[in-house]
Amino acid sequence: MFRRILIANRGEIALRILRACKELGIETVAVYSEADRDLLHLRYADETVCIGPAPSAQSYLDIPSLIAAAEIADVEAIHPGYGFLSENAHFVEVCQSCNIRFIGPSAETIAALGDKVQAKRIAKDAKVPSVPGSDGPVDSEKDALAIARSIGYPVLIKAAAGGGGRGMRVAHNDVSLVNGYHSARAEAEGAFKNSTVYIEKYLDRPRHVEIQILADQHGNVIHLGERDCSLQRRHQKLVEESPCPVLDPKTRQAMGEAAVRLARAANYHSAGTVEFLLDQQGNFYFIEVNTRVQVEHPVTEQVTGVDVIQAMIKIAAGERLLLKQEDVEWRGHAIEFRINAEDPDQNFKPSPGRIETLIVPAGPGVRWDSHAYAGYRVPPHYDSMVGKLIIHRNTRREALATARRALEELQMEGIATTRSLFLRVLEHSDFINGQVDTGFVDRYFGQR
Ligand code: ADP
Repeated sequence: MFRRILIANRGEIALRILRACKELGIETVAVYSEADRDLLHLRYADETVCIGPAPSAQSYLDIPSLIAAAEIADVEAIHPGYGFLSENAHFVEVCQSCNIRFIGPSAETIAALGDKVQAKRIAKDAKVPSVPGSDGPVDSEKDALAIARSIGYPVLIKAAAGGGGRGMRVAHNDVSLVNGYHSARAEAEGAFKNSTVYIEKYLDRPRHVEIQILADQHGNVIHLGERDCSLQRRHQKLVEESPCPVLDPKTRQAMGEAAVRLARAANYHSAGTVEFLLDQQGNFYFIEVNTRVQVEHPVTEQVTGVDVIQAMIKIAAGERLLLKQEDVEWRGHAIEFRINAEDPDQNFKPSPGRIETLIVPAGPGVRWDSHAYAGYRVPPHYDSMVGKLIIHRNTRREALATARRALEELQMEGIATTRSLFLRVLEHSDFINGQVDTGFVDRYFGQR
């Protein structure tokens, strides 16, 4: 096992990784930008290193600074968390050449799956169904029009290197297709330095259902079941739960097996997520693989009892998965709410600033993963998530009741948060009945 790990991230996930390391008896090195001197996990780390100014490009994304910190602090491995360099194949290669273990899949696997066009090809070869669409990149306006007309509107133009909903455009006709084609390419070029786009059928009111997988470096691959992440705003997740309220056992098993086949085909090791869309007829279609730990991993941890972060660390250290597929058990219902420093009444405008008061919920069934504390100033430079409220109860109904009372207990004053939206969502009969799709929030709680 590793003796010392560097955590190349910030906020709640840095704290989550630090907690996993402590429990495994591993020393931690925390890095931070000049805007992040007050991060909670810095207080608990064995060593802290400032890696640069506030902008991520000069700190959390700056490979030379991170490697220098890792070498000075003499770590054996780096955990990248999510976002930042977590899906950067070049960073993995640099770590490797410096003899530092990257806690995640190989550079080859990340490169192959990070290109969504290539990922869809791997899925096809592994007999995993994908959303119908272009068979590869779409290189001209003319091809885009031909493909869109052949699959039928509406279609979705997506960036091959995409993530975080960027480089994605819906088109309902030829005019919006041509506009969307060019603007998606420009956005993708700006965000990812890669303007490659492809086209998919835009599914009507699908659910987003994803499978958590774990794979070791010895060929053992298992899945830990699904998470339903249909509660989104503008294609960004807000609430995730497991099990999916509408999945039948046969489809659940088929999705799990498909995810495992895909992971094997990509020589996957570490934790990862295979994302699918579920249409109204119950058919599922692969959309992408996230080759890292995800924000919503606690939902799976609660229902399976598996510590996903600890598993990633053990796998990276070369340990074998002890858990067999037939031994994975799912218990109860878990649901996570992302508490973002955003104003849901002002079109989710970011709301950075000082948290004046913070009272966190507790009691049966409540887990609070957050770096926030009273007096903490949320900096404007990074992702707006300030905490995750995770509820675990025997049934979905009980989980929703606990969620309501826990959200009422949560008092975070000084900044606007998504809490108020969730209290409203929890009153909506469609949500209570588990009848939501990816457009639910935008439809009922969008512009007001
Ligand atoms: P990103 O990596 O940018 O987050 P994803 O491919 O994971 O993009 O898709 C994000 C979300 O966009 C999905 O959860 C879903 O809500 C929506 N989406 C993606 N592809 C489709 C599609 N073909 N039809 C309908 N919605 C889609």
